[in-house]
Amino acid sequence: MPKVHIRTYGCQMNERDSDQVARLFEERGYTMTRQETEADVILVNTCSVREQAEQKALGKMGMLNRHRRHNPRLVLGFMGCMAQRLGAELADQGPRVDLVVGTQKYHRVVDHVESIVRAREERQMDDLRLPVIVDVDEEQGSQNTVRDHVLKDRQATAFVSIMQGCNMKCSFCIVPYTRGSERARPIADIVEEVRRLAGDGVREVTLLGQIVNLYGRTELPRIDGRSPFVQLLEAVHQVEGIDRIRFTSPHPVGYREDLIDAFRHLPKLASHVHLPLQSGSDRILKSMRRPYSSARFLEICQAMREARPDVAITTDIIVGFPGETEQDYQATRETCRRAAFDNAFVFRYSKRRGTPAAAIDEGLQLPERIKEERNQDLLALVDELAMPGYRRLVGQQVEVLCEGTSKTTASRLMGRTSSNRIVVFEGRPERHVGRLLQVNVREHHHFTLYGELPIAS
Ligand code: SF4
Repeated sequence: MPKVHIRTYGCQMNERDSDQVARLFEERGYTMTRQETEADVILVNTCSVREQAEQKALGKMGMLNRHRRHNPRLVLGFMGCMAQRLGAELADQGPRVDLVVGTQKYHRVVDHVESIVRAREERQMDDLRLPVIVDVDEEQGSQNTVRDHVLKDRQATAFVSIMQGCNMKCSFCIVPYTRGSERARPIADIVEEVRRLAGDGVREVTLLGQIVNLYGRTELPRIDGRSPFVQLLEAVHQVEGIDRIRFTSPHPVGYREDLIDAFRHLPKLASHVHLPLQSGSDRILKSMRRPYSSARFLEICQAMREARPDVAITTDIIVGFPGETEQDYQATRETCRRAAFDNAFVFRYSKRRGTPAAAIDEGLQLPERIKEERNQDLLALVDELAMPGYRRLVGQQVEVLCEGTSKTTASRLMGRTSSNRIVVFEGRPERHVGRLLQVNVREHHHFTLYGELPIAS
């Protein structure tokens, strides 16, 4: 049977989508391979959030075309956000591909690949240039098609896609144009998927959505003051075998009292929230079309820490948004200090064609030099704010869900604390992977903790 290789760029949602496509190929008898050189089908799942991510995917596809020389039957395709954004333009002007499949059509990929293979066989031509298949239309119900998993042996964690799309239209963001409007999966389907995962040994699930904590707001009712998202958390919380529940990526406006309260009464909710600030300047937040103020954001952080004293709060920040003055940037620094983030992803603003921010007067765009200076300065501040939290853990015992071998040192194991801190320690994969373990923290290097298991583990 043909072999398939999928290269994934971008967020966890893309990883999850690639996993679903892999599962569909396996169901039809294909084999997945990590080696692109031995693949008969290579798909690149793309990200559009930044210009650089698109350039990487285009460059990769250019390189992959070289494999056609020794494998003229090779099928090459783009999937995901860039495929959705550019559609036929990508097929006409990008590197040579056989198919371009958008974000609502992942479930059709296998059919498309098979029709290409069949057409070549019928004409008895390997390297036949057929018209490129471009499938980027909207499809009702497509959010319900991402529900199966390819699980590794003793896999402890899994992503569960609960919704697709976003209606917020933040002025810098391409996602509403690549993922469409918000569409929620039914609570019962999601719970059933989590149950199956628990049955397969998964102990921790991360619920995924572009605006995850506003799940179902346009389709499902609030019940007794609880949002559809909180109702979903309560339902997933009841699944036996699941010890931890995470979710990403939320929006600050979705942190109402019912969700904050859920951190008091749902102990399986991990002690970590990723809460994108984007800017600490109210003027810039308005221009970004983010409907909250820095004061409201800080109130949420405080309420979260009251509800769950050990919670770790991480964030995303964009520096160099058009029109960001030194004063605006200082407001971001000040908000970071007051929020005392445990980590942050800092991005330099990158113009995305088709977004409202891309149309802001050219004169307000900031030079790359200033963006880079603010980026470096903010990263240094994040380190300064986050490191005391890591130092405090040295000498303590922490509970870790062991996920597998360490990415950097295969002879060691890694896992995460409830607060999402990575811990590396010595252990035996066959004995420890998939278990919640107590680990004594010996030291930390930057954002990684190192420790050891007590003797009896
Ligand atoms: S809420 Fe998130 S996904 Fe939606 S438009 Fe804003 S940044 Fe993009």
